[in-house]
Amino acid sequence: MTVVVAVDGPAGSGKSSVSRAASLALGYAFLDTGAAYRALTWLALERGVDPADADTIIRLLDGFPYATTVGASGSVVSVGETDVTDAIREPRISARVSDVARIPEVRVALNDAFRRIIASTEDPGIVVEGRDITTVVAPDATVRILLTADEEVRIARRSSELAPSAAATADQLRERDRRDAQVVDFLTAAPGVTTIDSTHLDFDGTVRAVVDLVHDTISQRQDTT
Ligand code: C5P
Repeated sequence: MTVVVAVDGPAGSGKSSVSRAASLALGYAFLDTGAAYRALTWLALERGVDPADADTIIRLLDGFPYATTVGASGSVVSVGETDVTDAIREPRISARVSDVARIPEVRVALNDAFRRIIASTEDPGIVVEGRDITTVVAPDATVRILLTADEEVRIARRSSELAPSAAATADQLRERDRRDAQVVDFLTAAPGVTTIDSTHLDFDGTVRAVVDLVHDTISQRQDTT
């Protein structure tokens, strides 16, 4: 049985980097679901389509040539022949991705794609991170985690990554969380979901907390079977 580790949380919680590092430590595959929403937003802007224009975005989904692979140096995301790994992290994408993510048809189509990727995993497990993985995409996951951190800590972490300016980063992160929270509740843990608060943990400590929880959950399951 494939172990599925679902990780949700707000922007800047360290979800992506912590989940990737935990997947490497566990020897599991890794799926960054936000990258798919970002890639669709990239495609929309590339084609001159307004990300809030639901009808046109839904048409873009038809045959959306999205692919992601995970290598030693991290995930590579492509749309058709174009490597968009770096482009999808640009502030112009972060500023519009919530428009694409609030279209119900987009969520249904991408969730189906995520479930297919999870089901076809050949590794002993997969770490899947996003906003609605513990609740919608994989509510039956073996381990379900809400990774949080206080807002000022999340803003500080983001600012040191790709800041145009610290104030702009803070505004963008707050606005994105506010808009995303209208679509899925990723700020409170659903029943059965374990909260890991990384406010006072460093990166390695947060990864260790995730890995320990996975090991503990697996050994408890073995004890009860
Ligand atoms: O995780 P990341 O910040 O890369 O996600 C980018 C955006 O994709 C989020 O702000 C949200 O709008 C959307 N998203 C989502 N559901 C997911 C993952 C991401 O709506 N499972």
